[in-house]
Amino acid sequence: MADEKKDYTEAFSLQMRKFRPWGAAFFAWFAVLIVGSFIVLAMECAMEHFLYFLIAMLLLVVPLVLRTITALRCPACGRFMGRDVSKFCTLCGAQIRK
Ligand SMILES: [Zn+2]
Repeated sequence: MADEKKDYTEAFSLQMRKFRPWGAAFFAWFAVLIVGSFIVLAMECAMEHFLYFLIAMLLLVVPLVLRTITALRCPACGRFMGRDVSKFCTLCGAQIRK
């Protein structure tokens, strides 16, 4: 019962603040993927160059995805909440936002 009343909004906002530069990095990664794809395809007709580019982008996205998953964890129960983060954790019901 005591757990339900506990306020996790502060812990979650701190978690989100730490994630912000990673969110920007994710956005930059996406921009590079789109722009880079056009550049590689425009400059090189060989498909293998594009494949190398995609593999490099895939390797870059791994730490970004891992960081995103840890940032979107519930501070109360520690489980991944997914993309739809609302006021309350959908898994344990703890309040994570004001
Ligand atoms: Zn939770």
